Amino acid sequence: MGDDRVLQGRRAALLTKHGKERVIAPALEKATGCRVVVHSSYDTDLYGTFTLETARPGSQLETARLKAKKAMELLDTDLGVASEGSFGPHPGNPFIPWNRELVLLIDDASRLEVCGEYAGPETNYGQLAAGDWEEAEAFAEKAGFPGHFLIVSPHTEKAAFVKGISSWEKLREAFLWGTARSADGCALVQTDMRAHANPTRMANIKRAAEDLARRIAQKCPQCRAMGFAVVSCQRGLPCAWCGLPTHEVKAKVSTCQNCGFTRETPAGREHADPAWCSFCNP
Ligand SMILES: [Zn+2]
Ligand SMILES: [Zn+2]
Repeated sequence: MGDDRVLQGRRAALLTKHGKERVIAPALEKATGCRVVVHSSYDTDLYGTFTLETARPGSQLETARLKAKKAMELLDTDLGVASEGSFGPHPGNPFIPWNRELVLLIDDASRLEVCGEYAGPETNYGQLAAGDWEEAEAFAEKAGFPGHFLIVSPHTEKAAFVKGISSWEKLREAFLWGTARSADGCALVQTDMRAHANPTRMANIKRAAEDLARRIAQKCPQCRAMGFAVVSCQRGLPCAWCGLPTHEVKAKVSTCQNCGFTRETPAGREHADPAWCSFCNP
């Protein structure tokens, strides 16, 4: 376990039918010396779809864990990797779309789990109910179509849809079908968020995989286990004027999953801006 190349030469199982190995394997293999092996025929839609025919079985992290475990079972390995994404509004601003990608590594041999993450506004995630072709066309252009695929449904019948639309001809055809079939004459046009259908998302998965590689390389100073990472923040940085504790971060706390070793890293500044002080600037 204390070995710096604990993953060297091992097979890491990945379930994907959307080509995610293209961005996950290079980052992980280069950093660790493991070899990513892919199972591409298992129906990962069972773990939830963005079009919501199937709900996700648990939280984003729990779902990634289930996928990694299934990959390990199907490919008979003690190492697994899985990717899981989520899309929605920015946590603090409903007008900014937000993508969070996790790439999780599970090592049964050392009983450790390391998770890489990307979270940010770089996504074309969106939808529009359109009655006119011109509106649908403008939405498609803004979404980066046809490089990014689209999904069309009748607006009043969202369970019916055409996925993976990648040409203007097919989009036009699906739009006419959707408007004709919908009670209100509108088609719902949505971005297709599956990795192979969305180069922007694929790039974000790559960033999460690179973050995973960085975290694997962070070793516990005591036992050398991988994935030594910041797990919490200590607040209470004193105000520069009055010295009372504020809500600003005072120190970051890293903890080892293997031996429990804990290290506090100071925030890098001694005082908080009085603007954040509830006494000086209420
Ligand atoms: Zn103050
Ligand atoms: Zn440790």
